[in-house]
Amino acid sequence: MATQETVPEIRSFVGGRPVDAETKERLDVLDPATGEVLGHVPLSGPSEVDRAVRAAAEAFESWQEEPVTRRARRMFGLQTLLERELDGLARLVTRENGKHLDEARGEVRRGIEVVELAAAMTTLMKGETLDQVARGVDVSLHRFPLGVCCGITPFNFPAMIPLWFAPLAIAAGNTFVLKPSQRTPLTANRLAELFAEAGFPDGVLNVVHGAQQAVEALIDHPETRAVSFVGSAPVARKVYERSGSRGKRVQALAGAKNHLVVMPDAELELAVPAVFASAFSNAGQRCLAGSVAVGVGAIGDELVAGISRMAREARVAPGDEPGTDADSTVTPVTTSEALERIAHYIELGEREGATLCVDGRRQSEDGGFFLGPTVFDGVAPEMTLARDEIFGPVLAVERMEDLDGAIAAINASEFGNAAAIFTRDGGAARKFVREAQAGMIGVNVSVPAPVAYFPFAGWRGSFYGDLHATGRDGVEFFTQKKVVTTRWT
Ligand code: NAD
Repeated sequence: MATQETVPEIRSFVGGRPVDAETKERLDVLDPATGEVLGHVPLSGPSEVDRAVRAAAEAFESWQEEPVTRRARRMFGLQTLLERELDGLARLVTRENGKHLDEARGEVRRGIEVVELAAAMTTLMKGETLDQVARGVDVSLHRFPLGVCCGITPFNFPAMIPLWFAPLAIAAGNTFVLKPSQRTPLTANRLAELFAEAGFPDGVLNVVHGAQQAVEALIDHPETRAVSFVGSAPVARKVYERSGSRGKRVQALAGAKNHLVVMPDAELELAVPAVFASAFSNAGQRCLAGSVAVGVGAIGDELVAGISRMAREARVAPGDEPGTDADSTVTPVTTSEALERIAHYIELGEREGATLCVDGRRQSEDGGFFLGPTVFDGVAPEMTLARDEIFGPVLAVERMEDLDGAIAAINASEFGNAAAIFTRDGGAARKFVREAQAGMIGVNVSVPAPVAYFPFAGWRGSFYGDLHATGRDGVEFFTQKKVVTTRWT
């Protein structure tokens, strides 16, 4: 364990090199499995942000002139490096976030998918032409980068979420300032090193550490043109409004409360482990985690029995524990504050009258932030357990008589990230796809995370903005269009 003297100071990454922050304000970054201090992260303010944005603005001058073929080619180099470093990056993610190593490998792989998409920028950025709109007049559409773009990211995917944004922005000719979560700053720094190693010029990707003050300074900075945010709903809304009022382009991905509907004809051998993994992998700290299971009709009893059995038998262990697997192991939550918040929700669930089938509250003997899987049955749609995003290993089971009731419960939620149905009935699945008010739908899939070539399409309170992350939306978000009308006669 590091002693206070040997704990590293975490530095920002500006203009191609690590730099010290001016602020003396620091926060401890903790290993969720042990409580060990991994480093001190600076809580940067406007002057550090200004330094990073200026580095990005300077780099933009030449980066925007770099031919798109060469920008794309750099992405191939980055892809190779990320593949080479996949295991090391995953270990870093597990160290600072706590998730299972296989989950961490999976998230790095998902991030690499976006780099692969960005390598296709030569095709994605192509314009359009229309010949002879009037006699001798032609029209063409061209896409241009915006300038300095910034990404503000959460603690739950320290590798994947920065990679949702930076590769597409940069391949499109922008430069980027990343402000990762202050809880998980280490992976971001490693990513910046790998971008530099891949040959991206100094200042093309910068990392500045901090929290609210740094975010506000980024949004307010006159040189930043676009803000990509992922985090909790109240902050997403604030970031969206502040960015909009400063005239910035903005996409703000927010919280979630995802329902998994299990129909009476569902294959339980498939549905039970799928619901379990969705609810409890990554300790429930996923914006696509299924945190409400809806048992339709008579299947409810078997569903609760099956999930409760798995919950009692689950391993509660550090993410790098040998011999464990990601889908049946519950790893620690990332912070001690989260541990307290989740325990409070469990008390509230009992007080509001839900039936506590499996109680995950436990004393952690080794200083880590462990919580076992918790299962509540008999949850009514109006209870706090069914409405609030708990963001921990707590599953609420609701019982409904029919599919209409299940869809109504989904559509009553303020959020609209994901929803899934388990069924063998094509008609029920089709009705669900059409009527559930959520942007990412799973049919017999409990974590319907889109591959990078599609948008991460949250609806309602799960997303503020117009263009989503990744897919074509990602390319549109990071480019501006110019339409040229030409007469030659
Ligand atoms: P958070 O809102 O606390 O923090 C997100 C980012 O915002 C961090 O970089 C943080 O430093 C910054 N921040 C925090 N408070 C701020 C403030 N008052 N003003 C400005 N910036 C502030 O979120 P988190 O706890 O890191 O992440 C978990 C949340 O993220 C969950 O709600 C989860 O659903 C959501 N999330 C959503 C998606 C999605 O795609 N919709 C994906 C992943 C995570």
